[in-house]
Amino acid sequence: MPDPASRPGRSRNPGGPKGRSRFRAPGDAQDGPDLVAALRSDLAEMTRRTNERNDYINSVFSSIDEGILAVDPSGRIVLYNPRAEELLGIGPRVFFDPPWGTGQPPSRPDRAPALSRVEEACARVNRTRVPERIELETDGGRHLEARVYPMTSKYRRTVPGNSAAGRPETDRLGSLALVKDITEMRRLESMRKDFVATVSHEFRTPLTLISGFVEMFKSREDLDPADRTRAFEIMEIETERLKRLISELLTLAEMENALPRQRIEEIDPAAALRDIGRSLGEMAERKGQRLELDVDPGGARLRGNEGWFHRAVYNLVENALKFSPPGTRVRLSARRTGEGGVGTLRIRVEDEGPGIPREELGRIFERFYRVEKSRGSGGGGSGLGLALVKDIAAIFGGTVRVESEVGKGSAFTLELPLGSPGQAGSTPGQEGLGNGAGEGP
Ligand code: ADP
Repeated sequence: MPDPASRPGRSRNPGGPKGRSRFRAPGDAQDGPDLVAALRSDLAEMTRRTNERNDYINSVFSSIDEGILAVDPSGRIVLYNPRAEELLGIGPRVFFDPPWGTGQPPSRPDRAPALSRVEEACARVNRTRVPERIELETDGGRHLEARVYPMTSKYRRTVPGNSAAGRPETDRLGSLALVKDITEMRRLESMRKDFVATVSHEFRTPLTLISGFVEMFKSREDLDPADRTRAFEIMEIETERLKRLISELLTLAEMENALPRQRIEEIDPAAALRDIGRSLGEMAERKGQRLELDVDPGGARLRGNEGWFHRAVYNLVENALKFSPPGTRVRLSARRTGEGGVGTLRIRVEDEGPGIPREELGRIFERFYRVEKSRGSGGGGSGLGLALVKDIAAIFGGTVRVESEVGKGSAFTLELPLGSPGQAGSTPGQEGLGNGAGEGP
């Protein structure tokens, strides 16, 4: 590219005679020393501008999140950015390993396999001039996508047999590879596939049961009343299970969709917990259990989506009641902890139920995980409840953990950082999302 400083009309000597060029033939005795000084100064200016341009180009290349790798027609890597270095494992030896451009095959055993495959693609594209897209896996298990394009010189023209070396001059500059890390995308895709497969399975099981009973009712009129009643009971349980599954799936979907623009509200946790206590207190009574409330968060306020907060605590208390036998006690307590700063709200749900085996503790927060599938079938569980609690805790910037002993009971602790008072969003509170009182199994 011609340097702007040398273009006509770009003289840094505007005070000179109009239209008079500074660039004269050497030997002009009149301006000799001036000319040398002017040339020297022009050269310094050109160097400064070139350095500045290089600096910009370097910065742009370095900040691009895609790996960029340019390979010349002889297979030599002429340029790459730090991202390409990171993704393809290019070390400095690539540049300093001799000999360059001497017909060395592009793929060599000392190179990372991913780099070799990109180089091969570059060589092919340089030959065929047809862009290519390849996917590859690195030694470290990363999935990469490389798109390779032919590069053409802006300045050179293809002139057969016209070059200093006697070879035909060509406008081919080689090829350019753009490399992207698609590991996360692939992981999410596979998670989504697994999720759909599990959801389908979870739907199929109760539906098969229900349609089996419907068939039985259609074909047999002489059904024993006790069998009839039992069949209806099972159908009711399975229908409830389906309803609950749909409700939890909707919450999950809603959380995923609403997260980027969720409305932040100021939540009064004490009021929300008392509300949960009221609605689940009835469930406890029906089962002959006692639900104790010990809520004293000292005026603490949370910031976030109230419906989701409600859902998280509701799920924990509901589980405690659901899995514990009649005659037991469930305790819901809340305290503000931490000195100074904004502090933390610690909510504990303790029960005297069957407990959870130690080896299962690490898995109960996974989606669709149930300790005993048989236990779940009676209680209508979907295995999504604790996964939701964990997601919601994370959205609030907090954590959920469990301590449990088989035969003695379980204690779930939800710790959520408290928002600074008075910063709640001005939008009205969001309704819905498992808003305790009206929902539940
Ligand atoms: P579910 O819909 O089955 O309740 P969850 O995700 O809420 O699903 O819970 C996962 C599993 O963890 C349950 O199936 C149950 O086996 C176990 N679990 C959860 N809470 C308790 C508890 N308080 N006592 C005993 N087991 C529990």
